[in-house]
Amino acid sequence: MNFCVKCGNETERTINGLCTECFLDGRKLTSLPHHVDVKICTNCGEIGFGETWVAKNIQEAIEDAAKDSLIVIKEAKAVSMETASVEQEPYTHLVVVDSVLEINGYTAEDSSSTFVRLKNTVCKRCSRQLGNYYEAILQIRAGSKDVPKRVMQEALRRVENLVDTQSLSNRHVFITKAEEVQGGVDIYLSSISLGKAAAKDISDTYCAETKEAAKLTGVTEEGQEMYRVTYLVRLPDFLVGDVIQFEGRYFKLMRISSSGAKVMDIMNFRERSVKRSDVPLFKVYARSADLREAVVVSRAGEEAQVLNPSNYSTVDLTVPTDAEIEDTVNVVEIDDALYYVP
Ligand SMILES: [Zn+2]
Ligand SMILES: [Zn+2]
Repeated sequence: MNFCVKCGNETERTINGLCTECFLDGRKLTSLPHHVDVKICTNCGEIGFGETWVAKNIQEAIEDAAKDSLIVIKEAKAVSMETASVEQEPYTHLVVVDSVLEINGYTAEDSSSTFVRLKNTVCKRCSRQLGNYYEAILQIRAGSKDVPKRVMQEALRRVENLVDTQSLSNRHVFITKAEEVQGGVDIYLSSISLGKAAAKDISDTYCAETKEAAKLTGVTEEGQEMYRVTYLVRLPDFLVGDVIQFEGRYFKLMRISSSGAKVMDIMNFRERSVKRSDVPLFKVYARSADLREAVVVSRAGEEAQVLNPSNYSTVDLTVPTDAEIEDTVNVVEIDDALYYVP
């Protein structure tokens, strides 16, 4: 058994030689700084406290900032906190934090207050974005003049979607700007890793060739070298649906993926896969948009009789047995002969 050095009462446990009552007598258990600053980004509206920025309700941010700043004496532990705030003047809120504390098996209460000041500022991400900051340029170029604008727009949209997805988990990811240039589009991106990911996505989607070049742009205050990387992605000349030449045969290009291409032989309708390294060997024979339509006269099994669109003579075409033949079919002329294009 111990005795309290102040009141002399017997007590089981002492804190600094005092019984709990004497220890608590007139003592502040919690304190708050005179004021706490909470930053608001005037551009994106996100709330910054310390170094972290989050999208958060302002009222919640004000009360959380006060709670996060609460200092509790080392002998006690806060079990719960309640906050109440009043706007004193614009941008300044008086926040009272009432806490329930546990000390030496006793429960005690205390109350502290602070002024939470709202500071308008621009977060680092927005200041970079507004300042046209970028670390990577993705240059998407058409393989030839024939590549329609639609394909370039589609590629740009792919990059926008990728950035949207990545920005959900990383707020430093953004497109600084995208501009149309001769033969393609230049997309300025906030980080090198984003540039790399976007280049890979486009390259995989279109089986496109990629080149990258890094340029030293300076040195950070910490002495780290800073680079800017340019990714040049050249879209191939061919598009899905085109008739292409490959290894001396003619194929309809069915699909392109990161692993290669799927093609269908125009002569026998057999599908085959072509590995990615061979895809650059494709040569466009006829664009899907340039295929001609032939009027179907009759169809029986693997044969369809059509009118040659050039001279309206009747021609027999071989068609797949399971092909659904409508009033017209797409045809391509190879060495003076007409072929059905599935
Ligand atoms: Zn005492
Ligand atoms: Zn911002």
